[in-house]
Amino acid sequence: MKKVAGKEPLTWNSEVVMKPIEEIAKDLEREGWHVLWTSEVEAIAVRDMYPGGEDMDIVELMENVGIKLKKAGNEYLGLCPFHDDHNPSLSVNREKGVWHCFGCGKSGDLTAFVKEWQYHTQNSNYQE
Ligand SMILES: [Zn+2]
Repeated sequence: MKKVAGKEPLTWNSEVVMKPIEEIAKDLEREGWHVLWTSEVEAIAVRDMYPGGEDMDIVELMENVGIKLKKAGNEYLGLCPFHDDHNPSLSVNREKGVWHCFGCGKSGDLTAFVKEWQYHTQNSNYQE
């Protein structure tokens, strides 16, 4: 990695390891989440330890896959894992459960995020 002279990088940790979603699911299960697969890409993660169970929301999912998010007003900001992002362009709305990247223009809900994640992990690690 080359250092950019005269420009101090932001303190965002950009070390996002693009793990396959199946591995993430296993990690979550080790942490007490119950991952229910409704299809190849759609899964509902439920934490069993709380009475009644609680669904994982989009911010929690992103943090679990290694994205650092910081609260900024009503939104959360972080580095987008889908393009070479150095200034946080990923905006997440926890209440609405949607995300949008101002850098690469990708956006969607939790399922769209998982699909995009799968697409990227499959392309970087698993060549067909
Ligand atoms: Zn992006």
